[in-house]
Amino acid sequence: MTAGVSDAIDAVYVAAVLVFILGLRAMSGPATARRGIVFAGGAMLAAVVATFFSPHLSNFLLIFLGVAIGGLGGWYWARVVKMTAMPQMVAIFNGMGGGSAAAIAAVELLGGLANRSTAVLSVAGAIIGSISIAGSLIAFLKLQGWMTSKPIVLPGRQVINTAVLVVGVGFGGYALVGLDAFWLLPFFVFLLLYGVLLTLPIGGADMPVVISLFNALTGIAVGLDGFALVNGPLGDAGYAMVIAGVLVGAAGSLLTFLMAKAMNRSVSNVFFGAFGATEETGAAIQGSMKPIEPADAAVQMAYASQVVIVPGYGMAVAQAQQKVKELADLLQAKGVTVKFAIHPVAGRMPGHMNVLLAEAGIPYDRLFDRDEINAEFPATDVALVIGANDVVNPAAHRQGSPLYGMPILDVEQAKNIIVIKRGQGKGFAGIENDLFYRDNTRMLYGDAQSAVGQLVTELKKSQ
Ligand code: NDP
Repeated sequence: MTAGVSDAIDAVYVAAVLVFILGLRAMSGPATARRGIVFAGGAMLAAVVATFFSPHLSNFLLIFLGVAIGGLGGWYWARVVKMTAMPQMVAIFNGMGGGSAAAIAAVELLGGLANRSTAVLSVAGAIIGSISIAGSLIAFLKLQGWMTSKPIVLPGRQVINTAVLVVGVGFGGYALVGLDAFWLLPFFVFLLLYGVLLTLPIGGADMPVVISLFNALTGIAVGLDGFALVNGPLGDAGYAMVIAGVLVGAAGSLLTFLMAKAMNRSVSNVFFGAFGATEETGAAIQGSMKPIEPADAAVQMAYASQVVIVPGYGMAVAQAQQKVKELADLLQAKGVTVKFAIHPVAGRMPGHMNVLLAEAGIPYDRLFDRDEINAEFPATDVALVIGANDVVNPAAHRQGSPLYGMPILDVEQAKNIIVIKRGQGKGFAGIENDLFYRDNTRMLYGDAQSAVGQLVTELKKSQ
């Protein structure tokens, strides 16, 4: 193979990096996000195709088989997955990435511990990749509802976890020093166990931070493997992994810090603080949940001067965004100012509410983030909460509450609150919400789509 082909492959990689960066930039705004995804996907495709021309590649049949199985599986699941199940899918796909990084590291290590510089990189990749796949699987089980989303806190967990990590890394070190691949087996077992133990104590409300951190870790593991491959059997072709790994690691880290900031917590506190593990102490919630009929709720909103709509996970499950747009338009036509309050972790994925509302054609200038809208609640006549719970739970202001410290939308300060939900269901964090029991709160029970539909019908009647 000529140097010209190698240079051409490198040129494709460099071009792919530039397009990745442009794609990431485009993904930061809802209007350009779709284009960003196409850019990034196209660049990845180009990098993968270019890699096939590398002189270092062999075993094409196995490679094509892997690409076919993975590609078909990814294509199928991406088509059938519901928007609300996206975090689970991200968690499990991300876990696959971590698992692949760990498996590649294992192959590299089994292929030769003697080359110390690449073996050290592979061990580092194996550590991070193993923690990432095990942790992502636990995150998947929690998000899918196949295990409790509440923190599972073992007594003395900090000591146990540290011991498991130290012993696991010790086995890896021993394998390297003694050039004995046998110790790689307990090395992987302990690190997988560490990934499980690390994630068990993390409660539902913190899952956004957890998923994005494991995503970043997977990127770093892939990047480390790529470095080892560049110095080993794959030569230049390993650069594709370095590039993809570094970008995922960097973008994932940034997202992790943004999500942690949105929760007003440090990343270390998320992982080591067992947030949500304490049971709330103090008085039980007083009062009762008071229902309201759609006709009365519609009248209240029609006579308001400002209505703030607070969408949450329930609006996403019910796919009620089109009805919500209809409702907002009808109210505006009656001279009511309608604003949307967007909490960064509402729903089940970052930017979930922005995506849904944009899909329904609600203009961006009607969406307000937490800091902007919180000051407006005292002057708001009606706050209409649609399937949101944790992000409006005033327990976050109470010391001793498992949610204490989480920044919320201060809906409680509105003059009147109407909450649409199906019944007594708790939020993702599994904590009671006394907002629903307040004197100025009324419950409009039902599936978000049909409840908002009823409000629309009532408003149309009064036109
Ligand atoms: P929550 O999950 O806290 O609450 C949703 C509420 O919607 C429930 O109380 C439920 O009550 C109601 N609901 C469910 N289905 C329907 C329906 N069809 N129609 C009407 N109501 C319905 O949602 P929030 O958006 O307030 O909070 C998001 C939570 O998810 C946070 O804890 C966040 O940390 C977590 N999370 C967020 C991620 C992200 O990236 N955004 C990722 C992973 C987790 P009922 O059963 O009575 O109807």
